[in-house]
Amino acid sequence: MHAKTGIAHLELRPVMGIVDPNNTRSLPKMVATCTGWDVLCHAIESLTALPFDQRAAPDHPGLRPAYQGSNPISDIWAAQAIPMVSRNILRVLEDPSDDQARGQMLLAASFAGMGFGNAGVHLPHGMSYPVSGMVRNFVPEGYPPDHPLIPHGMAVTLNAPAVFRFTAPANPPRHLYAAQLMGVDTSGARPEDAGEVLAGAIVDLMRRTGMPNGLSAVGYGPDDVDHLVAGTLPQHRVTKLSPRPADAADLKQLFLGAMRYW
Ligand SMILES: [Zn+2]
Repeated sequence: MHAKTGIAHLELRPVMGIVDPNNTRSLPKMVATCTGWDVLCHAIESLTALPFDQRAAPDHPGLRPAYQGSNPISDIWAAQAIPMVSRNILRVLEDPSDDQARGQMLLAASFAGMGFGNAGVHLPHGMSYPVSGMVRNFVPEGYPPDHPLIPHGMAVTLNAPAVFRFTAPANPPRHLYAAQLMGVDTSGARPEDAGEVLAGAIVDLMRRTGMPNGLSAVGYGPDDVDHLVAGTLPQHRVTKLSPRPADAADLKQLFLGAMRYW
């Protein structure tokens, strides 16, 4: 199907993590950009995922999946990570020797990981798998030049504004909270503005960090959308966590909405 997918199992979890700015100082700029954006999307998606108590309960607790939906514990980690990335991603891109900012990015990656490792992520990730898997000839700056690649964090982020415009009506206060955590003054925002406010904050940071302008900038056009939808539909592990159910027709509109942002 030319679609990536994720695998997860308790035995695949690491026993130790080393959170040290030295490990990432020599990352090429676009690698740092894409990994930083992946962290931000992990946090915003787990904060806005379908709440755990709105999912069908399994027969007994041992049958619960790893991804539980948003919950009060994962919310704490996600809410910490969003401002940490928003405040520090430009600093690390502009000055790789800024260990204070780099340390905050690494801590944010760990915090967001604890959040989404329990809550799960949703449509930006679910839609990213065919975006990465169907790549034709896009070769990002700073990555190995011998084969085309749409990096994971880039594939996720390019879907994010379109997705949050769609999911915001399911829980406007959550989406406004995410925008507020990114540094937006949401005091005058109405519930019906929530999707646009959060999408706007993401698009603004995409532009400032040098992210491509939507899926059209990495080689996709409207003719690819049916295939992108077909590659997203099987990603139940994450798509079922969308706070607003998305069928094939919805996904088609989401991919079309992700083609170009400015
Ligand atoms: Zn990710």
